Amino acid sequence: MRFHTFLLKYGEIGIKGKNRYLFEDALVRQVRRALKDVDGQFEVYKKQARIYVDCEGDYDYEEAAEHLKRVFGLVGICPVVRLADEGFEKLKEDVVAYMDEMYPDKEITFKVESRRAKKTYPKNSMEISRDLGEAVLEAFPDIRVDVHRPDVTVNIEVRDEIYVYSQIIPGAGGMPVGTNGKAMLLLSGGIDSPVAGYMVSKRGVGIEATYFHAPPYTSERAKQKVLDLAKQVAKYSGPIKLHVVNFTDIQLYIYDRCPHDELTIIMRRYMMRIAEHFAGKDGCLGLITGESIGQVASQTMQSLAATNDVCGFPVYRPLIGFDKQEIVEVAERIGTYETSIQPFEDCCTIFVAKHPVTKPNVDVIRRSEERLSEKIDELVQTAVDTAEIIDIK
Ligand code: ATP
Ligand code: MG
Repeated sequence: MRFHTFLLKYGEIGIKGKNRYLFEDALVRQVRRALKDVDGQFEVYKKQARIYVDCEGDYDYEEAAEHLKRVFGLVGICPVVRLADEGFEKLKEDVVAYMDEMYPDKEITFKVESRRAKKTYPKNSMEISRDLGEAVLEAFPDIRVDVHRPDVTVNIEVRDEIYVYSQIIPGAGGMPVGTNGKAMLLLSGGIDSPVAGYMVSKRGVGIEATYFHAPPYTSERAKQKVLDLAKQVAKYSGPIKLHVVNFTDIQLYIYDRCPHDELTIIMRRYMMRIAEHFAGKDGCLGLITGESIGQVASQTMQSLAATNDVCGFPVYRPLIGFDKQEIVEVAERIGTYETSIQPFEDCCTIFVAKHPVTKPNVDVIRRSEERLSEKIDELVQTAVDTAEIIDIK
């Protein structure tokens, strides 16, 4: 079947009044972005509280649909066949042909629903539905009508042309990116943080990211893995400005001066401080991490409190109540899992203590950090100044 247009459906909740057109305009922008790299020519526009994508000439249908499925804010994607208005008899033939091609197995129930946007059309919507329904029934003896719970609803929209669609591909849901500000994701090479970024972005939030590595203890390939993860998240969130921070000297200094069972917590506090610095500079409104209560020693309630202690920004932890298996399921669905499980070292695993504290006391941690006072400001400044900025498209 050759589809000429996609009709895009979006949720209506919370988008009344002025917010509505902001929401729609952001959605149009995101749809255009999603289709930018797809083979073909697409015209995206809104009309009568709907968004349409007209596909001109040859295009890759599968790829276009795949890309549209990643646009936050869409709840349904309907591939539409557009027919020239050449009289009702011809329309009947075309709709019968449409049903035949779309549903080779005719043991189904259906109903026809019509909208007449062109008021000069000689039949009203009731008549259109009834007469087309009859034509389909006559053509296929096995097919049945069910107006309450049909397997297939055939939608007919009469405009200058006639739009026919019956398939609704589920959309990604959420809100269009750009309607809810921007936040800074602490992105590691693990399973959790890409999922966390995806989840916050789903609510309409643009993403920047910060990755800490420790060359030569961590490799180029570990960094490449994070770039790959950022690319995958960017398929949903749009472009990501990634800050790659060389954390080696800070880690070595902490290792040198602080109790080893507190290393992870103190490191995490410096990560938060540095990420927050970039966040503030770029107008982000919060930080995002992949933390989940109790997952590891650094994510007990006490550890989270100790990490949070240094943050002035809100820290969004969308996975906080998720079990690992639930996180893995999302990671598989959004296509980050396979990359995340590649076995490259992370800077957190290299300097990790055998028996990290699980119930750190914030005052004790603060006092340990005082041992860093001589050089830490300078090291942080250098880490910030030498961060590599990579624009992930
Ligand atoms: P993940 O699977 O996301 O790596 P994790 O289970 O390994 O998480 P931790 O290592 O304790 O958990 O990290 C908790 C969170 O801290 C991560 O989800 C991430 O947001 C942030 N984080 C950890 N290491 C790094 C890093 N090297 N660079 C940037 N952020 C990091
Ligand atoms: Mg990790």
